[in-house]
Amino acid sequence: MADIQLTKDVYIPIFGLGTWQASDEELEKAVDCALEAGYRHIDTAYAYENEKVLGRVLRKWIDSGKIKREDLFIVTKLPEVGNRPSGVVKYLQRSLDNLGLPYVDLYLVHTPFGYHERGDDLHPMTDKGMIDIDLSTDHAAIWKAMEDQVIAGKARSIGISNFNEKQIERLWNCAERIKPSMLQVELHLYFQQKDLVNYCHSKNIKVCAYSPLGSRGSSQLLGKEIPDVLNNEVVKSIAKKHGKTPAQILLRHIIQRGIAAIPKSTNPQRILQNLQIFDFELSSEDMEKLNGQDQGKAGRILDFSFFKGVPSHPEYPF
Ligand code: NAP
Repeated sequence: MADIQLTKDVYIPIFGLGTWQASDEELEKAVDCALEAGYRHIDTAYAYENEKVLGRVLRKWIDSGKIKREDLFIVTKLPEVGNRPSGVVKYLQRSLDNLGLPYVDLYLVHTPFGYHERGDDLHPMTDKGMIDIDLSTDHAAIWKAMEDQVIAGKARSIGISNFNEKQIERLWNCAERIKPSMLQVELHLYFQQKDLVNYCHSKNIKVCAYSPLGSRGSSQLLGKEIPDVLNNEVVKSIAKKHGKTPAQILLRHIIQRGIAAIPKSTNPQRILQNLQIFDFELSSEDMEKLNGQDQGKAGRILDFSFFKGVPSHPEYPF
């Protein structure tokens, strides 16, 4: 499997396992299955509330000698309730404790907007039923604390998620010691993020695609129908030509653009299937046809507006 270079010494496997919206029991089996199949990059977040389960499986693999810590690439994220300098220190340490690891390979600021902290509530609400947003979110101050975590050896690399180009530019300019090395954003056939990817690559910021298969499992959470990228006619005909599945074509399209992808699956067959994308290549004609399926901004699925009140935050990115 190919790697993408994030910093002088840090390489991220271009392909990883997403873990959002998996129950503990499902995740335990899925991570076992993924590690057995050869996955080494695993994406989690404090806010997914699954780091403990993931950590348990990783520990089992490391303690048994089946895998070395340095062969794994573990990504986790600062939650919205921790979006302030003191929160970076506190929530990274909590993630490390949950995972049972002394360091993560990549730590991301999950979103550019922040919430007030109320106990351990991940989504604190006001009495008006809105998310209790913290209007004072200060990216420059948060980033300094992120840099400190690398220097302290708790994160090998740092990056951002869900930031827009303007926010990245601002952060880039104020990042004095360590530049962000990765942007994780929604990216799939109908939302290809061409301008944002070009911008990031021009700054040597690497991109990781979340919801690379169109996040079909989120329709209940979002309370709306989600377009079925797996049923796209262009994808299906290219899949037929290569003897591959639509999911494999969608994932190959992303990695062939030099973008990492982290599809979530808890189904053993699909976990294996999703990884089988390194034994074929899409032609430039295939790539062009797939590029042509982009719907631009209209293709976005996850805009976080399902968290009521979030779009009023001054750093709401979309
Ligand atoms: P996704 O990976 O695009 O889609 C996952 C859905 O597709 C699940 O319902 C899964 O069901 C199904 N699936 C997986 N492989 C398949 C295949 N080969 N054929 C057909 N269906 C398949 O969506 P996602 O979970 O939204 O995104 C992936 C990961 O990105 C997340 O898990 C999370 O780690 C990360 N993420 C990050 C952010 C952020 O704000 N930074 C936001 C969203 C997601 P089964 O499990 O039943 O296979």
